[in-house]
Amino acid sequence: MPARLLSGKTIADEIKSEVAAEADYLRAHHGFLPCLVAVRVGDDPASSVYVASKVKTAGELGLISEHRHLPADVGEAELADIVCELNRRDDVDGILVQLPLPKHIDERRILELIDPAKDVDGFHPINAGRLMQGHDTLAPCTPAGIIEILKRSGIEIAGKNVVVVGRSNIVGKPMAMLLLHENATVTICHSQTRDLSLVTRRADILVAAIGRAGFIRGDHIGEGATVIDVGMNNVSDKDFARELFADEDLEKRLAVIDKRGFTLVGDVNPREAINRAGAFTPVPGGVGLLTVAMLMKNTVKAAKIRRETPVAREINSFNKQKTTH
Ligand code: NDP
Repeated sequence: MPARLLSGKTIADEIKSEVAAEADYLRAHHGFLPCLVAVRVGDDPASSVYVASKVKTAGELGLISEHRHLPADVGEAELADIVCELNRRDDVDGILVQLPLPKHIDERRILELIDPAKDVDGFHPINAGRLMQGHDTLAPCTPAGIIEILKRSGIEIAGKNVVVVGRSNIVGKPMAMLLLHENATVTICHSQTRDLSLVTRRADILVAAIGRAGFIRGDHIGEGATVIDVGMNNVSDKDFARELFADEDLEKRLAVIDKRGFTLVGDVNPREAINRAGAFTPVPGGVGLLTVAMLMKNTVKAAKIRRETPVAREINSFNKQKTTH
């Protein structure tokens, strides 16, 4: 039986309508709307699309959003000043600095300057540490979104063997932590893992966050496993597209390549996955949509914590020391 497709759109729409309702509640009962500021440096076309989509979604959900677009040659000190200014602004609840930054800027330094209470991407070491220790925190959006996909699709996590391929700070590691907190038995694989397919075939749930189009083949997947495809890769080679897609899907993909020059492909070979997996997330239309929805959810969460609760006051006092550099 072909695998069940886990639609990111349905789940992302559900989360977005919850976020819109919460934002409206905050406006009506607390007199403010959460505010997200996206900082983008340079003219990377992919970053431009991502930021536009984040700002647009924030607007659609009734959040306040700002887009700060800086030239590619902006100095690191100037960018740092902007982040610190946003840290100090009381009306700003969420700050995201779109990655990648130009090579002359120390990405880690900039990310560490963001007030952890406003770090809606969840990349700050304080938030990463809180996540590792199992505390409620602003978790990175993509892995947090994957947990939502699994839960809202009725896929049990507790006690399951979960294999995460990829160990980046943005996806793989926080994914493993979130799954561990959901009581999964977690294995993390990476480029040095030996006999990868032997490990991945044992997974009840397989998360692929590698960055290589169609890398996970049928023989990496255990019969009936749930496969979550995080990858976002551009494929322009039509012969390669023929290895990844069949029938109507292939026709559509070839037409997209003709029109745009490339088609968006995940880290899993969908043509092979569909006959092995029990369920899997498509690309596009899967995990990516959740990433944006969870960013909105984190913005509302950050606003609620920072403006309302004692935990917020504690984090705030820590951050006051960080608003100057
Ligand atoms: P990174 O490049 O930071 O990490 C890739 C990971 O894959 C590394 O840990 C690497 O191992 C591992 N890897 C590479 N080659 C192999 C291999 N042959 N076998 C096993 N493991 C391997 O990527 P990200 O985590 O940032 O992103 C992963 C993918 O997810 C990308 O396609 C990215 O575009 C996509 N993405 C999608 C998002 C969404 O919203 N859908 C959001 C973020 C990312 P090692 O550490 O040993 O080098």
